[in-house]
Amino acid sequence: MELNKEQLAFQAEVRELAQGPIKDRAAEVDRTEQYPWDNVEALKEAGYLGMTLPRKYGGRDASWLDAVVLIEELSQTCAVTGRIAVETNMGAISAIMAYGTEEQRKLAADMVLGGDKPAICITEPDAGSSAGDMTTRADRRGNLYVINGRKHWITGGGVSRLHLIFARVFDEQGHEEGIGGFLVIRDETPGLRIVKREPTMGLRGIPEAELAFEEMEVPPSALLVPPRGLAKSFADLMAAYNSQRVGAATVALGLAQGAYELALAWSEEREQFGRPISEFQGLQWKLADMSIQLAAARALVYRAAESGTGGFPDMLMAAQAKVFTSESAIRVVNDALQFFGARGYSRNNPLERMARDVRMFTIGGGTAEMLRNLVAGQVLGKKLPQTRDGYVRLAEQNARNKPG
Ligand SMILES: Cc1cc2nc3c(=O)[nH]c(=O)nc-3n(C[C@H](O)[C@H](O)[C@H](O)COP(=O)(O)OP(=O)(O)OC[C@H]3O[C@@H](n4cnc5c(N)ncnc54)[C@H](O)[C@@H]3O)c2cc1C
Repeated sequence: MELNKEQLAFQAEVRELAQGPIKDRAAEVDRTEQYPWDNVEALKEAGYLGMTLPRKYGGRDASWLDAVVLIEELSQTCAVTGRIAVETNMGAISAIMAYGTEEQRKLAADMVLGGDKPAICITEPDAGSSAGDMTTRADRRGNLYVINGRKHWITGGGVSRLHLIFARVFDEQGHEEGIGGFLVIRDETPGLRIVKREPTMGLRGIPEAELAFEEMEVPPSALLVPPRGLAKSFADLMAAYNSQRVGAATVALGLAQGAYELALAWSEEREQFGRPISEFQGLQWKLADMSIQLAAARALVYRAAESGTGGFPDMLMAAQAKVFTSESAIRVVNDALQFFGARGYSRNNPLERMARDVRMFTIGGGTAEMLRNLVAGQVLGKKLPQTRDGYVRLAEQNARNKPG
């Protein structure tokens, strides 16, 4: 699949920003572990925040593939900024735009276009891969929901204002109605506490935090209810999450492409034994393998993005793209670092940062193992375990919902 003329022009436009100020700040963002507000401002000015949102809400009606082009270019020089582009165009914001009430859509769109990166809160200390076992609960009490629980590894915890919080929803009689998502604004909601920030291996410019909800009161208007109702809400919310998986795969792809280009240039510059190291066949084959993995990864990512035209990306294609790209990217970045010899091991070399950053993508957003389970379930036409004691058919999960 090739990009069209407009997409190629857009790619060139983004490249200028990515190879300019974004690249210049990347090392500092990593060293200081500060959220890159300057980069957010640059994305905002360029119209790249919320560009997948409908025009009616201030977006550009951009396709998932357009977003992939944006994210890949940014991630070549700064994966943290690439992730900000993911989470302002995909994931939580796309779920809200697809299923939200008019009021919820307007609120979320205004926040994203104004520079907020929404946080999606699914994982808990005791419910990671088995997300369906979450224990955070929202109890209906009169004209409010009261939320109690904990979430862990929440990207943007402490900087994001808008949160989409997954919780088990109970009616006034204490009957469980399903797993729903609540829109909560951090600094306007007592009871939401940032417990701690995790010190991470890479991607240090975005905080990963543990959150606690203690008797947190929210109005029923904060509950996001997809058209099929609360009982099927978790499956529908996870269908929206496929866009974020494609986004995560794209950050890994961008990191790998950036690393490959550094290695390629260095292989022609560095001389040993009286000739450029690119003349050694051992390194030529490495470059060949890197380029093959990149081409295959890009094809899978584009295909997954395209599958979401008019809805959300296909669950199987998104999983295939994320597993292959995240694992290939780790290999490509590692091989690129090897080209630099000792210089690759220096913290002055961007590859040292990229090698730490890229390690995340087989973990966050569904581990490679869990996504393989999902692919295998589809291939074998089997039921997939989703919770400790429950089974949900993949076909059910894969319900594609058209953003309204
Ligand atoms: C940088 C980063 C950012 C993140 N951001 C967010 C976020 O914004 N919001 C959010 O909600 N979560 C976020 N996460 C959490 C992420 O989604 C979870 O880490 C992931 O789902 C795995 O859960 P876990 O870490 O508890 O691992 P566990 O579930 O404890 O798994 C441990 C190991 O066992 C394997 N395993 C578990 N079950 C199976 C099985 N059935 N078959 C085979 N292998 C299995 C896993 O693959 C893994 O290798 C983030 C994580 C990271 C690292």
